[in-house]
This record gives sequence, C-alpha cells and structure tokens, in this order.
Amino acid sequence: MDESRPPQNLVVVGVQWGDEGKGKVVDALAERFDIVARYQGGANAGHTVVVDGRKFVLQLIPTGILRPDKTAVLGNGVVIDPVALLEELDAVEKAGVPVGDRLLISDRAHLILPYHRSHEAAAEQARGVDKLGTTAKGIGPSYEDKAGRRGLRTCDLLRADEFRRKCCEALAEKNRLASALFDGPLVDSGEMVERYLETATRIVPHLADVSAYLNTQMDRGKRVLFEGAQGTLLDLDHGTYPFVTSSSAAAGGACTGTGVGPTRIGGVVGVSKAYATRVGSGPFPTEASGPESEKLRERGGEYGAVTGRPRRCGWFDVPAARYSARLNHLSALVITKLDILDHLAEIPVGVEYEFAGRRFSDFPSEIAVLECARARYQALPGWQESTFGLRDYSQLPKEARDYLRFLSDQVGVKIAMVSTGPERDQTIWFDESVVRGQ
Ligand code: GDP
Repeated sequence: MDESRPPQNLVVVGVQWGDEGKGKVVDALAERFDIVARYQGGANAGHTVVVDGRKFVLQLIPTGILRPDKTAVLGNGVVIDPVALLEELDAVEKAGVPVGDRLLISDRAHLILPYHRSHEAAAEQARGVDKLGTTAKGIGPSYEDKAGRRGLRTCDLLRADEFRRKCCEALAEKNRLASALFDGPLVDSGEMVERYLETATRIVPHLADVSAYLNTQMDRGKRVLFEGAQGTLLDLDHGTYPFVTSSSAAAGGACTGTGVGPTRIGGVVGVSKAYATRVGSGPFPTEASGPESEKLRERGGEYGAVTGRPRRCGWFDVPAARYSARLNHLSALVITKLDILDHLAEIPVGVEYEFAGRRFSDFPSEIAVLECARARYQALPGWQESTFGLRDYSQLPKEARDYLRFLSDQVGVKIAMVSTGPERDQTIWFDESVVRGQ
C-alpha cells in the first residue's frame, strides 16, 4: 500500500429519482477500484451498461462484475430473490463474463420469497388509482418483513430443516393475510421450499460476512466503490414519501447496508442526468408535457431497463438536486446524457418552486405541496450540435460548458465528470481528484 496516498472509498449515489446512468458511471469508475459493493435495493434497479458495443442489463449484481479483475459484493442491505439472482448469474456467464468466486453475497441479506411478490401485486391492485407504481418484485414486502423481524436471510439457506420450518411458518401467516385482505392467490409451501432450497447449493458458496471482508480488504489498502441503486429522491426516509423505495438509497445507506463505518468512506459522487426523469407515480415538479417530454423520452431511450415502462421526462430541478447534495454531502457531481439535449435551442432549468403565491427553493416534505408546486424556470441557450461521444472538455460547445457551469453553481457542487454516451470512454473528465483518493 502506498502510504502517501491513502486509499479512498467512494459512494456513487443517484441525485434524482434513479435511472441517472449510475450503471455506466460505476462501470467507468470501477477501473480505479478493487471492489464494487451494492448496499441496498433489489432486482428492480436495472442498470444498462454498454461495453465494446455489447449491452448488459444488470439488476442485482454490481456492475463491477463486468471487469474481470474486480470483486462484486452484495451487502446486507440488499434483498435477494435467489431464483432471480441465479438467472442473472447465468445470463452474465452466458454473455462471456466469468463470475466464479468474484461474487460475494452477504450472509445477512434478506430473502425475497414468492409470497412477497404475490402480496405486493395484490396490495398494489387493491390500491386502485393510488398505485405506488412498484415493480411487484416483492422488494417492499421483503423489507417490511425485515423491519417486522420475521424475514428470512441468506444464512437461513445454510440449514435445510430450519429454512423449511421458518418458511412454512411465515407462509402460513402470509396465506392467511392474503385470503383475508386481498382474496389473493395462495402460495404452495412444499413447492416453494424445495425450489428455494435447490438454489442453496449455488448461493451458499458465495455467502460471506461482507462487513468482515470489506474491512479486511480496506485494511490491506484495497479500494471499495459503493454502488447505490435508485436515487436519493426515492430514499425511504428522505425521498418523496410514500412514492419511494423501501430502502436507504442515499449515501448513508452504504454504511448500514454493508457494515462499514462512516469514517472509512472518503467521498460521495452524485450522478444526475442533464435533465430529469421519473418512473412510476409521485410528484415531479419539473415534468415536461407533450412533445417536449416525448422528444426527451425518444432521444434518451427513457424506458425502464427492467419493466420497459416509459419514463416521465422533464428538466433539471435545482432545488431537488441541492436537497440531494446536502443529504449526501456530495463531493462531486457526474452529469450524464448531456448529448440528449443536443437538439434544443433553449434548455429550461427549474430554479425554484411556486405554491400558493409563495416562491421557495427548499424541497418540501409534504407531497401535496410538491405535487401542486409549479416549477419556475430559467432558460439557458442550447448548443444545437452533437456532443455525442465527446471525450475532451475543449470539444464541448461554449453553450454546453455554460450549461454545466450553471448547474454546478446552482447546486453548489463541482462537476467531476460528464457522460456523453453509453460507452465507458464516452466520458469527459473535469476533475479526477475525487476518484484518485486525494
Ligand atoms: P441506471 O439505473 O442509473 O444505471 O440508469 P439506466 O441504466 O436505467 O439508464 C441509463 C441509460 O442511459 C442506459 O441505457 C445507458 O446505456 C444510457 N446512458 C448512460 N449514460 C449515457 C450518456 O451519457 N449518453 C447516452 N446517450 N446514453 C447514456
């Protein structure tokens, strides 16, 4: 270990409502790290990564797996459906990426079982027009069971008898609830238990005490990149509740979700699109309408990586980004998909909100206020030339540089990197110090 330059461990977090292009950013940054660790969420967060023209959609496995010399870690804060994880593992290996012992799974991560999925689908159905817009993969109910102290964890797969007993107990209660509350379908315990026990033979060799592993590796001078899924505005505590995910997506989740103390983390990089999108229901003050929104969706390919759902599109929201910057104490920003704005003569940026005759720029806790708030925009000149694939700051049109400077000044955080295309090297570095560990 080079004592003169202590290794810096970094969190990469979404600044908006997820889908900011974190997959590409983590993949690009991973080169400088030894280990990539996911700290929360489940297989609802699709990352699309393009490597040498080949497209990989990773849902749970950290993107670090795509680099053969990196170890990918799933922390205790992640929830895992073992059947879905093995399918993803098979798909990655089939695409020519050997996994072997480069994937470690926390022995304390909670499991998603079929009753979580059926419960979520039935509950969402019962909500009618007030649907939360979940992916119905059982992630929320698995986190509910974790908080309710009745969840099953990956370490439960180590003992078949115990797994069988705990599973049957939990299922009996779930089936009673399903028939009483939703008239929902019942899950067959025998079939479920055997199917999940079968996965144990392949899951168990990957299980580890992730906290012990990460801390030991850090002691040895290895660098860890913590990868958040979704975005800060979907964080269970700090997001637009109840239109949020069920875990701690903001940077603080990196500690609880992996068992690493806060003083071991040296920086937090926030990833934001040059515009904004949101998938599913919930407030979105800078949402664009009609053709403007459609154009962004079409140019940005804004359809869910997992669900294919069209994303709602709009403009960069300064108050929201500033809120995220504070919550995560961002060391730097990464702005992605700058090229998607190439066609615009003018680019609106939401700089404050207006509600009930009052202008404000703090991010309100009340959803009703955020839903009714009107964004006030400042229009910046567009550049109307291609920035796609640019790799050098000097190649950026003046208007694009001014646009980026405006975002950085408004949010109060420097920009470390700008992404101009889906490939690893379609990237402009503004300031590498944040990932160099200085
Ligand atoms: P994530 O979950 O935050 O990784 O985001 P998604 O994978 O859902 O969405 C990002 C999409 O944008 C993927 O298809 C990426 O390949 C693509 N992408 C990422 N950065 C850029 C960029 O700078 N320009 C363009 N054109 N596409 C990008």
